[in-house]
Amino acid sequence: MSDCLFCRIANKELGTEVLMENDYFMAFSDINPKAPVHVLIIPKKHFQDITDIEGDIIAKLPDFIKELSEKLGVSERGFRIITNKGKDGGQIIFHTHFHLLAGKDLGDLIKE
Ligand code: AMP
Ligand code: ZN
Repeated sequence: MSDCLFCRIANKELGTEVLMENDYFMAFSDINPKAPVHVLIIPKKHFQDITDIEGDIIAKLPDFIKELSEKLGVSERGFRIITNKGKDGGQIIFHTHFHLLAGKDLGDLIKE
């Protein structure tokens, strides 16, 4: 059994409801949502963070996000993708993941 929480989710050991998956990625709801729609996308294979993930896997992410956002009904109004890396980036789970936030006007974090 893996020590990594998101590997355990990827291996379907925790009973987390899977919203969408393919051979490379899986999507499930964040347990502590920060927006009306807050979904996490993880690669099924373990990588620590965005700088660690294999290029041929990350190349498949946009198609997954496109299909997921359509499935969630947020593709037209839009959404934000965030990934945290390291301590200052606020990363608390060291299996890389992408937050998809949507369902309200998210404002402009860059200017805050
Ligand atoms: P980060 O700060 O980018 O590492 O974010 C980790 C995210 O994982 C947080 O938004 C948590 O709410 C979320 N999280 C932690 N445990 C779980 C879980 N078991 N299922 C879904 N989301 C989780
Ligand atoms: Zn992992």
